[in-house]
Amino acid sequence: MKRLVIFSVFMVALAWTQKTNYKGYKLLRVTPQTKEQLAYLVNLSRSPDSKGWPSDLKTLDFWRDPTTLAQSVDIFTDNGALMEQELLSKGMQPSTLMDDVQSFLDRRQAENANSIAAGSRFTETYHTYEEIIDYLNQLANSNPLVSVSRIGVTDESRDIVTARISSGGGDTKPAIYLECGMHAREWIAHSTCIWIIDELSTLYGQIPEITGLLDRFDWFITPVSNPDGYVHSWLNDRLWRKNRKINPSSPCIGVDTNRNFDANFGGVGSSDNPCSDTYGGPSAFSEAESQAMRDILLSLQGRAKAAVSIHNNAQVWISPYGYTTERPADYAEMERIMTAGAAAIEATYGTNYPFGPGSEVLYFTSGTTKDYVYGTLGIVHGYTLELRNTPDGFVTPTTLIAPVATEAWNGIKAMANAIV
Ligand SMILES: [Zn+2]
Repeated sequence: MKRLVIFSVFMVALAWTQKTNYKGYKLLRVTPQTKEQLAYLVNLSRSPDSKGWPSDLKTLDFWRDPTTLAQSVDIFTDNGALMEQELLSKGMQPSTLMDDVQSFLDRRQAENANSIAAGSRFTETYHTYEEIIDYLNQLANSNPLVSVSRIGVTDESRDIVTARISSGGGDTKPAIYLECGMHAREWIAHSTCIWIIDELSTLYGQIPEITGLLDRFDWFITPVSNPDGYVHSWLNDRLWRKNRKINPSSPCIGVDTNRNFDANFGGVGSSDNPCSDTYGGPSAFSEAESQAMRDILLSLQGRAKAAVSIHNNAQVWISPYGYTTERPADYAEMERIMTAGAAAIEATYGTNYPFGPGSEVLYFTSGTTKDYVYGTLGIVHGYTLELRNTPDGFVTPTTLIAPVATEAWNGIKAMANAIV
């Protein structure tokens, strides 16, 4: 018995330190050209829990989902040869974006480390949770515009930290809230929030547009909304998406906190299987991460004019609703803002950003931030911004941080300027 206990402790310790290896995994890209091909891919992407997959496939993850004809779809799988055969048998021509995902991940990580060693700017490289917290604290200590506060504590006892950038005016000024990194592996999202914090805090008084935006709004920005998942993506599994909740009665870990909000909770586009990447949790707001965002927005009620969740990498600007194709009563106003935002993004480097209700331009989702922000809190401008799609999936190279963050920030500035 004692030996069994020691063995079990050893196994738990082993699991704790084990690093997920994606050797031999592939990322494929395919573009549906017929309705039948699109329907096949949509059906496959909506079977997230292995039911309906080609047999012998252990991992199938759509890094970019099928939405419309002639738009590319990115498929991550452990069995690339089998998946290629499947796609070919449907008349599609898959190309390989990553032949061996693990070597790709290793290369990207080395590039980031080299870039830091070569003295690249903090905002143009990826950083650990601890480094980001240090950066925020230093900024708060040295810059009178910035203060940081803890808006929640995770299951693994990490602080969920929000930076407030304010040029003064008391606690009645209109506010804009930005959140990044609800999905741990989407590192370019975290970098985009840090980029915006840096721009607002260093360019006030120097660039009239920034000065105007800070004199009009207090900005509240959470750059790491899911600290436990983010740390796990650095130490154990670069492609981890959910938080790190231990699910009772399941060996699988984690809740998708962007399915945990009280907005059609548990409905279409979320899973009740704890092993799924879209598992919404046992009940709405069961998770520290979603509670933290809810609570800061409640504390800003009456002030918050917009709340934007930043994700990667579908390259769309989406509004409510995710769970129904019924248009929100305020859709005309949302459309006006998204038109301005998408135009500003496109004017930067020519990146085309489709926009519209999530249920129409992306796919059905329930329990997401934007629907709660609009549907329950009554903040008209509740959006999800999915950053630029690249062949790098969730492993955006450090060299793309500046252009992707710059165009997204231009979109957000245009949004803020257009809000009346
Ligand atoms: Zn995401």
